[in-house]
Amino acid sequence: MDHFHYRDGEMFAEDVAIAQIAAEVGTPVYVYSASTFRRHARVFREGLSALPRVHLAYAIKANPNVAVLRVLADEGYGADVVSVGEMRRALAAGMKPQDIVFSGVGKTRAELAAALEAGIGQFNLELEEEGVVLAALAHERGLTAPAVIRVNPDVDAGTHAKISTGRKENKFGVPIDQAPGMFDRLAGLPGLDLRGVACHIGSQLGDLAPLEAAYARIGELVAELRAAGHGISRVDLGGGLGVPYKPGDVMPEPAAYGAMVARVTQGWDVELMFEPGRVIAGNAGVLVTEVVWVKPGVANPYVIVDAAMNDLARPALYDAYHDFVAVRPNGEKMTANIAGPVCETGDTFAMNREIDKVVSGDLAIFRTAGAYGATMASTYNSRPLVPEVLVEGERYAVVADRIAAETILSAERVPDWLQK
Ligand SMILES: *Cc1c(COP(=O)(O)O)cnc(C)c1O
Repeated sequence: MDHFHYRDGEMFAEDVAIAQIAAEVGTPVYVYSASTFRRHARVFREGLSALPRVHLAYAIKANPNVAVLRVLADEGYGADVVSVGEMRRALAAGMKPQDIVFSGVGKTRAELAAALEAGIGQFNLELEEEGVVLAALAHERGLTAPAVIRVNPDVDAGTHAKISTGRKENKFGVPIDQAPGMFDRLAGLPGLDLRGVACHIGSQLGDLAPLEAAYARIGELVAELRAAGHGISRVDLGGGLGVPYKPGDVMPEPAAYGAMVARVTQGWDVELMFEPGRVIAGNAGVLVTEVVWVKPGVANPYVIVDAAMNDLARPALYDAYHDFVAVRPNGEKMTANIAGPVCETGDTFAMNREIDKVVSGDLAIFRTAGAYGATMASTYNSRPLVPEVLVEGERYAVVADRIAAETILSAERVPDWLQK
């Protein structure tokens, strides 16, 4: 459920006409619905309401805009961050340090130190050496680092290979059979408070079965660690729930997910941490674009839009599908390819797709662009960095400026020896 809908034949974001935003801010532009973010945050929380102790850490990488983070902080969410840059955003949005989880396979020593000094609530360790270094950094500062070990449960998430993280050959986590030995060696280190384990097996999961299999393995590990005398007070179950991209896609509801978690974690007696990203942000944003040309093609015409792979990378990266609809559809349809202006064949959003008939100058949106959209944007082909707008009810604001190509150019220089 989202708040992008037609009203009298024209696409609105909540109570604001998309065409009005396009006229004022220009295109391409991301438009987010604060009410949709709030709704998803609440539905996800309600899905987990049967569980006794829950901490929600929104995975910032899905959509790190500081206004979006403020909305989610308002909804009682903390954050899962994967860099100090993301940590600074969470803090800037008003999230409390103790509500922040620091994940990531390549946290640098400088990042670990900065996060310790900020007092963040949990470090998710990816390897034993990281635990040793973190303990020493904490100890020399007179601090204790709260930490869990991220394990790799070796399950196939059944999603796209590039967003699958829980198979043993992936770079993430500690092989689950090595976790008990690592726990034994790290648990006694001064400066480290090792509280439990974490897992995250992948993203855009359309099926609960791989998650259930992973969580069952985590349950066995928790029992084994307790039998070895370790106190386990936290288990972090990661994120990964999928969202519908295509009309007709059916994804697990947060309530079904919560029921599965309640069943599998029965009797664990821990605080459960969750790191939802896409399920909160995906359908809360669209990318608004203008049709530049309709270019005749061999089989179908190419609808060339002013948004490109540098603004929305998912189709080029993962062959992802984004629904494309006209802002003012006239009722007619056409079969077309949709592509951006960037000089890459991969800069193609769809091939042979039946879409609303559009002509040069028409506005359209790519739906479900709220997660892994603007955050992956670049300035490839010296295009400006795409701006972002947040709508709530009748109000809207530009929450990230369009960064002009000239501004980016102004950060570059020709060295002395090349000056004429
Ligand atoms: C990306 C990521 C998430 C969020 O994944 P979604 O599929 O967006 O829910 C959660 N935890 C970790 C460690 C991640 O890397």
